Amino acid sequence: MSKLSLDRILQSQGFGTRKYCRELVEDGEVSIQGQVLDNFKQPVETDGLVFHIFDEDWEYREHVYLVLNKPGNFECSRKPSHHPGVLTLLPEQFSWRDVQPVGRLDHDTTGMLLMSDDGPFIHAQSSPKRHIPKVYEATTADPVTPELVATLLAGVKLHDEPAPLAAQTCRQLSEHKLEIILEQGKYHQVKRMLAAAGNHCAALQRTAIGQLTLKSLNLQEGEWCYLTAEQMALLV
Ligand code: URA
Repeated sequence: MSKLSLDRILQSQGFGTRKYCRELVEDGEVSIQGQVLDNFKQPVETDGLVFHIFDEDWEYREHVYLVLNKPGNFECSRKPSHHPGVLTLLPEQFSWRDVQPVGRLDHDTTGMLLMSDDGPFIHAQSSPKRHIPKVYEATTADPVTPELVATLLAGVKLHDEPAPLAAQTCRQLSEHKLEIILEQGKYHQVKRMLAAAGNHCAALQRTAIGQLTLKSLNLQEGEWCYLTAEQMALLV
């Protein structure tokens, strides 16, 4: 159980500066269980708190953990240069609370992207030491052959990597599609591995992280959802 003043709560949830949050409270914009609270100093229990602001209910969350079905033509970078950033697909409160992508997908890669404002979670989830499998479905320019699959499983040498990189698993899905599972997350890894193996990646989608699949989330491209505790437990 922990209590925080209402202005601190609003600020922590991404509603703006402390000054602005105080104004919101004083203007009568915030209610809890149908009752308007206009004293920003009032301590409020955060456990299980749901507050109402701007015609919406918000659950208090110490941190947010979410998954986005990333569409193409969005950049994961905080300062996108050629396409809009993925943060523009989320409520603006998330930018205020410094939600960031966990790792990166290329601007033209679609599929599962975890996002959070919990630094240790982001760090642990991106750590190469944890060997969390990432599953990709790649569409290839040239037909997939048994030799291509064998090469990706055996490992290919990328010019800035000291050792060859191999797929953990790789299987053909159709004439121009393969599923490749990687434990590392090197720059453009799938595209570069396919190129090094003599093919070309025409499209790429991340379909699972750990045991959590994109399919199970039922998200259209551009849609996101909070991760449940059960889903978080599958990210291994
Ligand atoms: N590998 C790539 O080449 N691109 C991605 O976005 C992810 C993995």
